[in-house]
Amino acid sequence: MSLRAKCGASITTPIYHDLNMNKKFYITTPIYYVNDQPHIGHAYTTVAADVLARFHRQKGDDVFFLTGTDEHGAKVAESAKLAGQKPKEFVDEVVELYRIAWKNLNITHDEFIRTTDPAHIEAVGKFMQKLMDNGRLYEDTYEGLYCVGCEKFMTEKELVDGYCPDHRKKPKKIKEKNYFFKLAKYLDQVKDLIQTDQINIQPAEMKKEVLGLFKQGLGDFSVSRQKVKWGIPLPFDPAHNIYVWVEALQNYISAIGYGDNRDEFERWWPADCHLMAKDILKFHAIYWPALLLAVGEKPPKGLFIHGFFSINGQKMSKSLGNVINPNDLVEQYGSDATRYLLLSQFPFGQDGDIKESLFAEKYNSDLANGLGNLASRTAKLLEKNEIEIKSAKQPISDKVIDDINDQIERYKFDEALKSIMRLVAEANKYLDQEAPWKLTEADSERRSEVLNNVASWITTMARLFYPFMPIASHSLVEQFTGPKVKKEEGLFPRK
Ligand SMILES: [Zn+2]
Repeated sequence: MSLRAKCGASITTPIYHDLNMNKKFYITTPIYYVNDQPHIGHAYTTVAADVLARFHRQKGDDVFFLTGTDEHGAKVAESAKLAGQKPKEFVDEVVELYRIAWKNLNITHDEFIRTTDPAHIEAVGKFMQKLMDNGRLYEDTYEGLYCVGCEKFMTEKELVDGYCPDHRKKPKKIKEKNYFFKLAKYLDQVKDLIQTDQINIQPAEMKKEVLGLFKQGLGDFSVSRQKVKWGIPLPFDPAHNIYVWVEALQNYISAIGYGDNRDEFERWWPADCHLMAKDILKFHAIYWPALLLAVGEKPPKGLFIHGFFSINGQKMSKSLGNVINPNDLVEQYGSDATRYLLLSQFPFGQDGDIKESLFAEKYNSDLANGLGNLASRTAKLLEKNEIEIKSAKQPISDKVIDDINDQIERYKFDEALKSIMRLVAEANKYLDQEAPWKLTEADSERRSEVLNNVASWITTMARLFYPFMPIASHSLVEQFTGPKVKKEEGLFPRK
């Protein structure tokens, strides 16, 4: 489903100085594992992707923004069984929760892919067949440990006191025939692509971490499972299902026509940015490029890895009961403010702590008292004095505008938002100093000039923060474009 039509019209190109129109920009979130309901962690990644997608669309780029759900594997089958449902019934229900959460957060994905979609299943079959035909797979016996919680094979070295450190469960001992992928053949090539930034991994610490993984020694990995029944069968040996990780990664190409529509595929591939948290780095930075090279496709151009966050200083977990539901935040603050509050707390790309108490505090200081107050008092004065909007000189310097755009492009969302809030503060200060409410009819020209300056300030800022707070942006641009300005209900009512 395309949501592209929704975000257009009145937010026309803001003042971009690098007008490299019609570049394509393909951005993805990880597909979320439906064993879990959407929480603030998923929302964080998805909002960030949406900010980038909106930013690039606003710039005139040709954007494809993909998100979706990962629905196969033993863990999902177990959860469905516990819920007394068939796997497909179970996943259909959870997927709906993701759709609702993204709608509430005003996410403008161009496609929501599900790994149970027939088109994905077909594309994956073709990809696996090609790996086989190219001689990149071989059959062998796997004997070892498997953590169902991680859906990963594990080694004794990775365990803590015999337990999976993430799930605190004993991994299962399994012995079965698997197909293995000849990873070794591609390791040097993938490493070289990362070192030379042809696969551009950001931030720099994460690139370093990936390069470190090569030193640990990476072995061939299994691409199929015989005992996991909820999955996609290997086309050449249907007694096996495709290992869920290997299958899930392929969503990034099945969504854009891999194996079915070469023109569409080449229009978007390679992805410009796979966005993710660091726990899935190895799969994306090493296994995924190697698999692509093995079927003769290009690796992704870029990966951006954001940090983990804690909630009020604690690790987020169901057992601690501190999991934040993004829908609750939207209900309390609205979608724009939730997006703002999520991305302004700490630098994207670093670990950080989400402080719930800061939500209300920042909401009031930045949005209600800052931006909301600026807009409402300016509109009130314009209306009261019956001042029409004339084209005023753009009060924000080109340098400041370029810097903010540059910060967004470089994933420095918190800095961009800080810069924008500085502009809000400056405009409020200017209004206080000029005090147009004190000017009499004799100074009506000056009064009109001051208020027109502020109106122009507001519309310019609104275009700058459009990727973060699209609803407020639209409404401010509409309100202050004039010619007549009316005072409206507060954008961000004080909490
Ligand atoms: Zn585990």
